[in-house]
Parts: sequence; C-alpha cells; structure tokens
Amino acid sequence: MLLIDGEWSETESKIAVRNPFDNEIVGYASTATRAQTLAAAEHAKAYTSNLTAHERHEILRGTAAQIERDEQEFVDQIVAECGACVAEARKEVRRAVTLLRVCAEEATRICGEAIPTDGTSDRRRNLAVTVREPIGLVCAITPFNRPLNQVVVKLAPAIAANNSVILKPSEKTPLTAVKFVKCLLDNGLPPRMVSVVTGDPHEVGEALVTSPHVDMITFTGSRAVGERIAKSAGMVRMTFELGDSGALIVLDDADLETAAKVAAQGAFATAGQSCRGVKRILVQEGVADHFAALLVDHAGKLRFGDPRSPLNDIGCLIDEAAARTVAERVGESVAAGAKLLHGLPPQGAVLGPQVLDFVPRESTLVREETFGPCAPIVRVEDLDDAIEYVNSSDYGLQTGIFTAGVHRAFRAAREIRAGAVVINDGPQFESPFIPFGGVKRSGVGREGARFAIEEMTTIKTIVFQE
Ligand code: NAD
Repeated sequence: MLLIDGEWSETESKIAVRNPFDNEIVGYASTATRAQTLAAAEHAKAYTSNLTAHERHEILRGTAAQIERDEQEFVDQIVAECGACVAEARKEVRRAVTLLRVCAEEATRICGEAIPTDGTSDRRRNLAVTVREPIGLVCAITPFNRPLNQVVVKLAPAIAANNSVILKPSEKTPLTAVKFVKCLLDNGLPPRMVSVVTGDPHEVGEALVTSPHVDMITFTGSRAVGERIAKSAGMVRMTFELGDSGALIVLDDADLETAAKVAAQGAFATAGQSCRGVKRILVQEGVADHFAALLVDHAGKLRFGDPRSPLNDIGCLIDEAAARTVAERVGESVAAGAKLLHGLPPQGAVLGPQVLDFVPRESTLVREETFGPCAPIVRVEDLDDAIEYVNSSDYGLQTGIFTAGVHRAFRAAREIRAGAVVINDGPQFESPFIPFGGVKRSGVGREGARFAIEEMTTIKTIVFQE
C-alpha cells in the first residue's frame, strides 16, 4: 500500500513479497510510479506538523505499547517476509519497542544552548541562544534485514524531532514497514506527517533522492547503493549506514570461552545478515587452535532451517541467490588455503553456520562484507598485526576486542579506525543510548535516538544585543 498525502491507496501492478524459505507469496506491495513518488514528496513537504513535544512523546509511547500488545503479529510478519527465526524476530520487536520509548523521551528534551558572545575585544555584552528546529522532510530508505527495527530507527527520531517523513522500505520486506506505519497512525500521528512509497527501487528510489522537496536522506543499505545515492542527491543533508567487515580481535590473554560465545552470536545471529555482525575473527596465534575448537563447538549446537519452527536458532537468508553468494565465497577462500572446520552447503535460502580457519587476508570472504552465517578466523601475530589488518579495510563500523590487558585495550581503542571499539564484547554491541555509525566506507553520520535527532534537526541561532 502507498500512503500519500494522508491517504492509503493501492496500485494495480504489485510486487509479490515471498517467504524466502519456501517461496510462498506472503503479501503484495504496490508499485508507485516516478510521478506518484514525486507527488508524494511534494505533498509531504507541504505539510508542517504543529504537534507539541508532549504530543509526539504520547504518539511514540502509544505506538510502543501497541506493538508490545501485538508482538506475535509483528513476529509472524517478520518471520514470513525476511526469514528470521522466531526468537530473533521477537528480539527485534522488543528492541523496536525500547527504541520507540527512548525516542519518546528524547522528543521532550530537544535543547539548544546559551552562548555568551563577548569573548572578542570588539564585542559588547550580548547573548546568542541556539534552538534545534526540524530539518523538514526526511526521506528514509531502509534495507531488508530487521524490517521493523530499521524503519523504527529512522522514523521514531524523525517524528520525535517533528519532521515530515517519507519512507521507502525494501521491496523485499515492505509488509512489516506498512504495519508499523499503521500503528503510528492508530496512535494519533497526523496521517500527512508520514508517507510510504514502495515499488521498483530504481524508479522510486531515484525519484526520492533527486526530489527537490526532500531536505534529508537517511539511508541504510549496501555500500554500492549508498555511493550511488551520494552521487545523485543534491545539496541535502545525508546520513549513510552502510556495510562493514566487522572485526573481532581475540588476543592471547582473552577470556576465550566468552570470546567464542560472543563470536558465534555475532557471526550467526540473523543468519549473519547484520551490518554490525562479526565478519572476521582475528585470533592471536598462540590461542587460535583452542579458540577455533570452542567456536566449532558453538556452531555445532545451533539448529537451523525453517524460520517458523521455534526450535531453530537460525532461519534462512533473504533468498537463494544470497545463500549461493556466501557459499561461493567460502569455496573461494578454501581454494585459496582456508580450512573449513564446520559447515554444509546451502539448500535453497538455508545456509547453516560456517567456521573457517587460516583464512587468507585477501580473500573476498573477509575483504568484502559477507552477509551470511560465516565465522572466518584470520590468524594474527600480535596486537600490532591485528590493528594494521583491521585498519587496512575500506570499512569501519564497529570492532570488538577481547583482552585482559588494559594497555592493549586502550591502544586498540585509540588506534582502530571505526565508529566504535568495543572492549570485551563484539562489534554487534548495541544500545539505543549511544551513537551508532561508521567511518570510511561504512557510512556518514550517526544513528541512536539522541544522535539521530541531532542529525534530523537544524540549529537556529537567535542573538540578543544589549
Ligand atoms: P540495498 O542497498 O540493496 O537496499 C537498501 C535500500 O535501498 C532498499 O530499500 C532498496 O530498495 C533501496 N535502493 C536500491 N537501489 C536504489 C536506488 N538506486 N536509489 C535509491 N534507493 C535504492 O541493501 P539490502 O540488501 O536491502 O541490505 C543489506 C545491506 O544493508 C548490507 O550491506 C548491510 O550491511 C547494510 N546494512 C547496514 C546497516 C547499518 O546500520 N550500517 C544496517 C543494516 C543493513
């Protein structure tokens, strides 16, 4: 369905949304034309919200409560369209509820500051005050993975900041997004404050990112699409949350049991389809054999397959092609010298956990972002070697390091070029209270409730002359 100028509508031609596990059609999404998309942006820009902070707070809190009540419906929808297993979908819904509540709080404390301006000799005593105003129309483009959370992470701060927002969810997982927007409207969001356009990514996406009515683009997705958008969009504010080759460093003084558990969770959760997942594990030579054995043990305990079965820990990938790509990279890495310690070939979109050791540093499996359930071990000599290898990547979202040594931890924190360095946990660490985003090709700008609100507002300065 499309939501344009406060009205829901459907187009005759539709995209079939399929369950990636069995290819069954689970719903349809409308296909907006370029003209419809441009009109949607124009209408969205023409609307100005006059909601108070209290009203926005109540809308976001009410939406959180409704999603909490309807948890099972959201879980079923996520499982059906993206193939996440039940436990992971449940976790995602709960995360979305928490984030909505945090953004509801943040809506009531969007503040500026008072700045004395008499610090130069030619100034009389006066005062400047800054206020944060909504940026205008925010265009949110979201990926297939975590189809609820990726939308909430953009829409909740945009609404908290009193912006109009136009959402283009992934064509692979648009149904959860529409369901979420309906919840916002049920809880009092003015229908003209949010728009939804679905359809062909190039037609709809290109129309949105070049629309003169859009004031900000907040994009989460692949590096290739992000770079394309960066080239075509004009002078608008942009934030990009792109991929990573998320590194976890395990040094020889680490708590290996915990490190292996965290590595397995980070590499295999959501079938490895997470931007902040563990994508390469840099293990110091002296402990690598032991660590690899622990990791294989964890991988062997995981059940995978039909996402609807509550017994499974891992569902499937987003489609068969994705599973094939990951398996091909595993094969290439093995051909180049890596040792496959655990893992079976894919069946359809299902791919179980893969554990590899002695992975060559230049193999695509670890050089690029491999969006699948792989735990590739790259052996490193020492901390210097690990830092140099981590920093040689084009990416820099989040890096984890396990070490008992405070000096080693401090050095890693200071020298690793990433959006976050996580000591004694994995790159998958997340909290709605901290900034989230990358450096280098992993992105530009920050998410996380308060930090997203900062990105989605502009500073106005008001000067009081004596
Ligand atoms: P994708 O880049 O294929 O698609 C993302 C979105 O962009 C979709 O809505 C898609 O329809 C749209 N799109 C495609 N072509 C477009 C165009 N020409 N103009 C405008 N929009 C266009 O990504 P995906 O496969 O859906 O998601 C996986 C990727 O997302 C991975 O690389 C992953 O790392 C990344 N990701 C990053 C984060 C993060 O926060 N850093 C979080 C989740 C996913």
